[in-house]
Amino acid sequence: MEVNLDRMIVTVAERVITAADELTALDSAVGDADHGINMKRGFEAVLVDKANIVAKPLPEALKAIGMTLVMKVGGASGPLYGTLFMSLGKSLPTEPRLSDLAPALSAAIEAVMARGKASFNNKTMLDVLGPVAAELAADSASFASVRRTAAEAAAATIPMKAIRGRASFLGERSIGHMDPGARSSHIMIKAVADCLEGRA
Ligand code: ADP
Ligand code: MG
Repeated sequence: MEVNLDRMIVTVAERVITAADELTALDSAVGDADHGINMKRGFEAVLVDKANIVAKPLPEALKAIGMTLVMKVGGASGPLYGTLFMSLGKSLPTEPRLSDLAPALSAAIEAVMARGKASFNNKTMLDVLGPVAAELAADSASFASVRRTAAEAAAATIPMKAIRGRASFLGERSIGHMDPGARSSHIMIKAVADCLEGRA
């Protein structure tokens, strides 16, 4: 699998930064209206550190991105996305094959679940990451199917009732809104798929 790390970092960061207002609007419905601001701050810091990051082998680069996100994103999502990237760095080899992605993402999901004490169907980022890991493991998986799965999974958080995170304070009133972290996960997965397919 051809990984252009520089392009991937720029694409993921630019897509997240561009979506900051959308993510913050989603978080204003079920949270405290900062998810876009948090993610933008984190990925701007990743871009500032990009030359240093891309000079590292992929596992170390992913760990460096994770540490930057922990330090800069803040909120609940910072430590959780930080854990996700650091765990991917622990699992993936320097030159990964496509078949390495599903087990690496599954292990990273386990780490996020342990860190956030959350499970699937709690209306969080996990409700996008989980279906994407399952799709990646399927024989029929393609870049298009992974993108579709991520989009459908993000939309599927709309009717869910939040059990974890700030949105859970709303109880039933969290129903009817897309989870902000589910949407940011969708955006990042689509960006990675676009890059690996050579579309970005
Ligand atoms: P905060 O909720 O502290 O303001 P953000 O707004 O940046 O932090 O992030 C909110 C997102 O974090 C939620 O939409 C959800 O997807 C995710 N999240 C919150 N708590 C958890 C958890 N325990 N496990 C997984 N994801 C979570
Ligand atoms: Mg928030």
